[in-house]
Amino acid sequence: MLKDLYGSSKEDPSPLCRLLRYIAFPMKENLKGLPLEALEAKMIALGHSAYRGRQLFRWINQVRESNFMEMTDLSKDFRKELTEKFVLPKLEVAEERPSGDGTVKYLVRLSDGSQVESVFIPMEDRNTLCVSTQVGCKMACTFCATGYMKFGRNLEAWEIVDQLLSISFPDKITNVVFMGMGEPFDNYEEVIKALQILQHPMGPQIGKRHITVSTVGITTRVQDFATANLGKLAISLHGTTDEQRGQIMPINKKFPLDQLMKACRELVFKGRDRVTFEYVLLEGINDSDEDARRLVKLVEGLPCKINLLAYNENPFIQLKRPPEERILAFQNILLQKHLTVTYRRSRGRDIAGACGQLHTEIQRRQATIH
Ligand code: SF4
Repeated sequence: MLKDLYGSSKEDPSPLCRLLRYIAFPMKENLKGLPLEALEAKMIALGHSAYRGRQLFRWINQVRESNFMEMTDLSKDFRKELTEKFVLPKLEVAEERPSGDGTVKYLVRLSDGSQVESVFIPMEDRNTLCVSTQVGCKMACTFCATGYMKFGRNLEAWEIVDQLLSISFPDKITNVVFMGMGEPFDNYEEVIKALQILQHPMGPQIGKRHITVSTVGITTRVQDFATANLGKLAISLHGTTDEQRGQIMPINKKFPLDQLMKACRELVFKGRDRVTFEYVLLEGINDSDEDARRLVKLVEGLPCKINLLAYNENPFIQLKRPPEERILAFQNILLQKHLTVTYRRSRGRDIAGACGQLHTEIQRRQATIH
């Protein structure tokens, strides 16, 4: 039991139990994570109508029901047939950590026993859920705890959506950001399926304007994503020269700044969308006046928004957040050039709020105990 080790009230099944459960699931097909059309096609193949597929889609993704026998507008025989042939697995919360500022971090256990993080972030006008898309990450950004983990695997679409469906949050989720563990564009197809389900009128109904997908800048995917028109695009910039950005984001060697900025300039969005650049301020690394001026030059003439973030320090990484006055001075230089800039103070600083931090902390605790 995690309870015994960490004071959590959630039960941790034994490794054997997890293995048996993992082995058991593939025997029955999982119906979660299927887009509506696929579910309709599956029901037709079984000799039922497409309408049955629509009913199921709503039960799974809107009502959040995981037991076929509780789907009361389906005939008893059909419910029995579904129970015999299919499963609707659920993610489990292994640890839940509320912060003094209302943020809650969840360590979520997948059916193969691996774990990812999801974060509930309440604000005045919205409640945002930050979801993970991979177990670990290949991108190895030096400021991020996930970047130091071994890459495990891509999440399937249902495992991304289920972070919203299976957790009981303190309040209704209105916004979803893909900024948790993993690089969304490194798991592009499953992320797109998850976005289609999240937005569906018969699903959780999180509108496209309420969803943001953040990428380190996998340049080859940014136009595909804009064309798909399924959410807002945020690019993690975090540096203003190749040398500086390459030091903290190894992906810059594959997709250098000029290539990334060219792709952003050539982006064709449907509607009035524009790209958002995320810029995490790291003391003594990318927070000087000169950096701010270079940032102004980089985005010159590009319709965009810049989100400044103060680094969320963590005990495993020797990087510091700049003093508040430094951040404000940096922001001022951008504002003087009439750029659209927001400065977000980090949330959940008392609960290992940054991506991968809780997972790393628990792994280290386990390593110490065993
Ligand atoms: S910041 Fe994002 S892309 Fe970079 S290592 Fe962390 S999870 Fe991966």
